[in-house]
Formats: sequence, structure tokens, C-alpha cells
Amino acid sequence: MVTKEQILQWLQQFASAIAQNKEYLTQLDAAIGDADHGINMDRGFQKVANQLSNFAAQDISSILKSVSMTLISSVGGASGPLYGSFFLRASTAVIGKQELSNEDMVSLLQAGLDGVLQRGKAQLSDKTMIDALSPAVTTFTQIIREGKTTTEAIQQATVAAEQGMKATIPMVAKKGRASYLGDRSINRQDPGATSVYLMIQSLSEVLVE
Ligand code: ADP
Ligand code: MG
Ligand code: MG
Repeated sequence: MVTKEQILQWLQQFASAIAQNKEYLTQLDAAIGDADHGINMDRGFQKVANQLSNFAAQDISSILKSVSMTLISSVGGASGPLYGSFFLRASTAVIGKQELSNEDMVSLLQAGLDGVLQRGKAQLSDKTMIDALSPAVTTFTQIIREGKTTTEAIQQATVAAEQGMKATIPMVAKKGRASYLGDRSINRQDPGATSVYLMIQSLSEVLVE
């Protein structure tokens, strides 16, 4: 079972990872975007981190919904609505839950992915967040369906997210600002896929103890 405490720790851990990688994410975005991905994400997740103690009395679904609202209202750019959709749809998959089974975790991640897909309309290989998120969620689901533990599933999902993130390097961007560059977006790692990797890695750090 994944506890509410672990979900709160995940959000805290992700906020820390974003803060630590703020410059790196911004540099990646400077190469193929407008040099603000780290700034945008850090603004939103510092706000989330500051609110976590207020969220603690809520159930998991309400916490995820509150995170979504904070992100939508404070993160500018493409990533605000996209991460907002991830957490909003994730929240609707676990309504009323105080702890999450492996199947609940599959539902949460799958719903979050669907939210980003519906919001951004990106496909695999468009060089976006989806290229890290989709393999991570697919791998997590597959490992759980094989009857393995949450620990094993999230470890393998993290490997898949990292591979997906690195696989964006040779891609031509088809969505978002980077798509304006056409072929000049080749040989650069996508900033959003990189922040998604940090999100999955943060979950892994909390669940594998
Ligand atoms: P902006 O491009 O508005 O400045 P950010 O820099 O915060 O926003 O976020 C850029 C990231 O958003 C990209 O690296 C990419 O991963 C992601 N992104 C952009 N458009 C889409 C989309 N339609 N679907 C999924 N992800 C997207
Ligand atoms: Mg940007
Ligand atoms: Mg911007």
C-alpha cells in the first residue's frame, strides 16, 4: 500500500528535485525554447511545497487536486496546464482514498498520462513530456500486471523514464515552442521530458526504502 504520507513525501521530493535542477532545466529550455522551464516548474512546486502541511488533512485525491490548482494558477507556459492536467486527472482516479493499492497506483498514473495526452495532443516521438511519461506509465502497469511489487514497478518505470528522456535527444520537436525550430531541435534533450523523469525518480525514491 502507498500511504498518504508517501504521496506527500513524493510531492516534497519532486519540489526539491526541481529546485536542485532549476538551472539545468532552464538551460535545456534555452537551447530549444524560451529558457524558462526550470523557472516555471520551480515557481509552481515551491508553492506546492509550502502548502503541503495545509494539504495533509485532506484525502489523497483532494491533495492531488489542490496540487493541480496551485500549478495551473502559478506555473506559466505550456507546462503549467500540462502538469495541472496530470494531477487533476490523477486525482479523479483515486477519489476518497486514504491509501493506494498497486491497482490504484496504476489508475493514478494512467489517468495522469491520459490527462496530459488530452490536454497537449502530443504523440510519442513528438519530443515532449509524453516521451518520458508514457514509457514510465506503461512499464509500471506492465510490471504490476506481472504480479511484481510496487518497488520493482517504480524502479523499472524510472529506468523507462530515463531512457525516454534520453531518446528525445535525436527527435525533431513536433509540439510546443521547440517545434518552431524544426530540424534545429535535433540533438537537444527535451526539458519537459527531463522534469517528468525527475517526477518519476522522486516517486521511486519515496517508494523504495
Ligand atoms: P513554454 O514552452 O510555454 O515556455 P515550458 O518551458 O515550461 O513552457 O515547458 C516546455 C515543455 O513543455 C517542453 O519541453 C515539452 O516537454 C512540454 N510540452 C510543450 N507542448 C506540449 C504538448 N503539446 N504536449 C506535451 N508536452 C508539451
Ligand atoms: Mg519554456
Ligand atoms: Mg515560456
